[in-house]
Amino acid sequence: MATLKDAAILVLNAGSSSVKFALFAAGTLEPLCRGGIEGIGSRARFGGAVGAQAHLFEGNLPEASDHAAATHWLLDRIRRADGIALGAAGHRVVHGGPDFAAPVVIDEAVMTALDALVPLAPAHQPHNLAAIRAVKSAWPDLPQVACFDTAFHRTMPRLAQIFAIPHDLTDQGLVRYGFHGLSYQHIADVLPDIAGERARAKVIVAHLGHGASLCALRDGRSVATTMGFTALDGLMMGMRCGAIDAGLVLHLIEQRGMAPAEVSEILNRRSGLLGVSGISNDVRALVASDDPRAAEALDLFAYRVVREAGSMMAALGGLDAFVFTAGIGERSARIRSAIAEGLAWTGIRLDTARNAANDTRISADDATVPVYVVPADEELPIARAVLSRSPPL
Ligand code: ADP
Repeated sequence: MATLKDAAILVLNAGSSSVKFALFAAGTLEPLCRGGIEGIGSRARFGGAVGAQAHLFEGNLPEASDHAAATHWLLDRIRRADGIALGAAGHRVVHGGPDFAAPVVIDEAVMTALDALVPLAPAHQPHNLAAIRAVKSAWPDLPQVACFDTAFHRTMPRLAQIFAIPHDLTDQGLVRYGFHGLSYQHIADVLPDIAGERARAKVIVAHLGHGASLCALRDGRSVATTMGFTALDGLMMGMRCGAIDAGLVLHLIEQRGMAPAEVSEILNRRSGLLGVSGISNDVRALVASDDPRAAEALDLFAYRVVREAGSMMAALGGLDAFVFTAGIGERSARIRSAIAEGLAWTGIRLDTARNAANDTRISADDATVPVYVVPADEELPIARAVLSRSPPL
């Protein structure tokens, strides 16, 4: 049997309507192939695969794919691949609760603990656990490792984790968990090569994708973040409202007579860029529109990042570098420029041409706080964790 060093590591990242996968050579952590299925539940389609093994994924996805069918389709193709011997698998698991502060090798006891966390992330956790079970049934002896979106933030001081609610509720786990932890882990891993000594200092990372959050990093560790008990808190997002007055939620229920499910639909799916513009949740469509509501939605998005960045700076006691990542952060020069303008008082100043070109370093040479654009990668930190946690084969 292949040792883990000669084998491939399979990484699965099951979201609410997607399953992404990646295969890495365990010896070098070179990606062999990556791809994903999107639109599960509406119009599922394979978004394509890149890398040397991409040919494996030609062919048709089953019609009316649900998560189980999509995962089965992916695993079936990987199983039929010549020259790929899996040594271990790693999974993105959204919620690790208060106890999982690091990646963990999965066994029955771990699965029981993760099942108990489903109520904390009902739209995501069941898909993550189903992917683990699907891999288990395809390769019963394959070591599997769970990596948590929440784990990275367990280094936050207690005051950054608790809400000002009765302490018995805090003791029951109603705390700020924070999310996007795998994305922040990746930035913390690669930033020393990009920013040198500053990577260890006071850094704000803005993960701006469909979901959006900020993380304050000190010495590569999370000291504050904007998402909270759920991924609804903090920044304005594509369809989510971010932080709002809890009294507004009570008003919708008590005075307007809305059912909780209706309120949830408004706050999770009909707010954010989509709700404010009334047009789209996609920054590209809003930039292309001349509707004043589209401009207002983009302005509010940037304003909310600026306001929350101020809060992250207060938690850090200063700012030495700022990093943009994920779809909007990597590709929207307009949003980055609006955020930089709002933060000009901190010493941030962009170079217009570098910003337009999505360069790695987009700040002006004489700016006192450098600003970077770093591509998001949630799969590579999982592969790294698998390599360091798996028992030797
Ligand atoms: P996810 O959180 O699902 O991983 P992404 O990180 O891929 O999402 O980010 C998706 C978002 O990126 C979309 O909402 C879209 O608005 C934005 N985006 C993608 N490409 C561009 C672009 N060229 N310009 C501006 N925004 C973009």
